[in-house]
Amino acid sequence: MDPVTPVGRFAPTPSGRMHLGNVFSAMLAWLSVKSRDGEMVLRMEDLDTQRTSPEFAQILREDLTWLGLTWDRETPAQSTRGAVYDRYFNLLQQKGLLYPCYCTRSQLHSVNAPHLSDGTYVYPGTCRDLTAAQRAACTRPPAWRVKVPDRLWQVEDLVQGHFEMNLARDCGDMVVRRADGIYVYQLAVTVDDGEAGVTEVVRGSDLLSSAPRQTYLQELFGFPHPIYAHVPMLLAPDGRRLSKRDRDLELSQLKERFTAPQLVGRLALAAGLLPEYAPVTPQELLPHFAWDKLPRQDFVFEL
Ligand code: GLU
Repeated sequence: MDPVTPVGRFAPTPSGRMHLGNVFSAMLAWLSVKSRDGEMVLRMEDLDTQRTSPEFAQILREDLTWLGLTWDRETPAQSTRGAVYDRYFNLLQQKGLLYPCYCTRSQLHSVNAPHLSDGTYVYPGTCRDLTAAQRAACTRPPAWRVKVPDRLWQVEDLVQGHFEMNLARDCGDMVVRRADGIYVYQLAVTVDDGEAGVTEVVRGSDLLSSAPRQTYLQELFGFPHPIYAHVPMLLAPDGRRLSKRDRDLELSQLKERFTAPQLVGRLALAAGLLPEYAPVTPQELLPHFAWDKLPRQDFVFEL
C-alpha cells in the first residue's frame, strides 16, 4: 500500500456517448488506482454548456457502471464552479500574471506560428505590453491570459516517458478565461484535480501537451504535481483517431453486440494485460495490471 492513498479520476465531457478509446482510458485509470487500494473520483467536464447536457452525464454514469468501473465520490460538475474558478483567477491577478487580450480569432490565426497538437497557436504576446490608453481604446470584451516563464516544464509520464515543454517557446501566454467569461479547460482541470486531491491523471495521449501547462498552473496555485500516464489512442483501420463521430464504436452500439466482460477482455488484450482473449471484469483484471505491459504507440483496434 502506498504511504498516501492514490486518488485517480474519471473526467468525461458529457457531450455524447463514450467511444472505445474513452472506455480504454477509463479502464486503465480505474485499474491503476484500484490495484493500489486507491480512491476514484468522477467529475463531469461540462464547461461548454452548449455541447454538454445533464442527460449525457447520466448516461455516462450508467455506462461506467455497466462496465464495472466504479467511483467512490463525484465532485461538482465544472459548470457549477464559476465562483471557485474566480478565486484562482484572482490569485493570478494578485500575482500580476494576468493581462487582457483583445486579439480576434482571425488575428491569432493570421500569425504564421507553429501550433500544438491540440490546435493551440503559439501566442506571440501581442497584447502583453499594451498601455492603459491602448487597452481603454479596445471596445470588445477581452480574454485573459496568464504570462508563462521562459523555462522547461518536465513530466515523467508512466507510459510516454520523459516529456518537456518550454511554455514561452511552445505555447505562449495561455488563455485562462475566454472573452465570454467561461474559464478554459486548463484552469478548471488544474483547480478541480488539485482540490479533489488527485494524485494520478490517466487519460488519452492527445492530452500529453496539456500536462506541462497544468504543471505550471499547479505550481502557481500551490497544488502538488500528480503522476501522469497518457495512454495510447485507439485508431480506426484508416489510421484516424477514434472520435465521437465513429458511431459504431460508441457504447450505445457496442452494448447491443457485446457484454461488458467481452469488451473489457478485448481492451485488456490490446493493452497487453492478458496473453489471450478472455471475457473478464475490471475486478478480475486487477492482478494482471502493470503499466510496463502497455504499448506506448497509438494502435489500430478492430473488434
Ligand atoms: N474532459 C476531457 C475529455 O473528456 C478529459 C480531460 C482530462 O482528462 O484531463 O476528453
